[in-house]
Amino acid sequence: MKKVLITGAAGFLGSHLCDRFLKEGYFVIAMDNLITGDLKNLEHLSTNENFEFINHDVSEHISIKVELDYILHFASPASPIDYLKIPIQTLKVGSLGTHNLLGLAKAKGARMLIASTSEVYGDPLVHPQTEDYYGNVNPVGPRGVYDEAKRFQEAITMAYHTYHGVETRIIRIFNTYGPRMRLNDGRVLPAFIGQALRGEDLTVFGKGDQTRSFCYVDDLIEGIYRLLLSDYALPVNIGNPDEITILDFAKEIIKLTGTTQKIIYKDLPINDPMQRQPDITKAIELLGWEPKVNRADGLKITYDYFKNLSEDELHKVEHKNFDEYVK
Ligand code: UDP
Repeated sequence: MKKVLITGAAGFLGSHLCDRFLKEGYFVIAMDNLITGDLKNLEHLSTNENFEFINHDVSEHISIKVELDYILHFASPASPIDYLKIPIQTLKVGSLGTHNLLGLAKAKGARMLIASTSEVYGDPLVHPQTEDYYGNVNPVGPRGVYDEAKRFQEAITMAYHTYHGVETRIIRIFNTYGPRMRLNDGRVLPAFIGQALRGEDLTVFGKGDQTRSFCYVDDLIEGIYRLLLSDYALPVNIGNPDEITILDFAKEIIKLTGTTQKIIYKDLPINDPMQRQPDITKAIELLGWEPKVNRADGLKITYDYFKNLSEDELHKVEHKNFDEYVK
């Protein structure tokens, strides 16, 4: 039985990866320090005999006794407001955590896939973003802790590949959504749906003319799985190219939820990228991968998930420093 170590396993993407690898017949070792992850995302796997959970911070030395075939590094805060709250941990998990895991991959002869991000392109001057674009990142801005950690992560991963011959894969993930996102993580989709469910106005930052392209989680997981099993070591964008302005997105959520609340405008956070759309030519050509779930269908599934959360979860305030972020 092949063994896979998944870090950030109690998070949104990590927990979906655990499901997928168990379904494919792997033994899954799930690791998380639960800073932003939540064990409730893994509860349904607790009695699975092919599943083991280890509570550990990957920025500290990692010791795994058994052999490993694959390592997927998905541990990291992923919401811009989280980076503000825990900037040092964000930098450490992308740098020290990646270094520890690459060392582990080398020792075990395992193939390692890292979760990189469209944030390596910063506020992009090339549109749509192709993998050969170097990006436009402000290292000392509020997003710098995440963006630069991920850029370092890619660099050290390529170095282990080139100098130590470790088999590595790099996925650049664009905005993804679906069940198990944290309702209060500050990101736009859960923010809007949470506001609609609580009967609050929807907060659009800036004029709402900035764009994003949202990929449903099942499509992303398929892309990750295919890239892991491919023989391609350079970065590959995975995301849904269907681009929308944030204002139009707010209107879609109003329609979906039937809320009678209005849209209100707040300042645009510093260095908020104005446009984002993946060029997925590489993924199509190398992996035969394309997103299959359209936004209307994906949003409906996600809304159903959020609707069924408890009152406590709906009203939990996670970001006391929110006002520092959006003045
Ligand atoms: N955004 C917004 N209202 C919110 C939260 C986010 O208008 O309540 C905007 C944010 O400024 C950004 C976009 O939505 O332009 C996506 O933000 P998110 O935090 O989801 O992730 P990002 O793609 O910026 O990393």
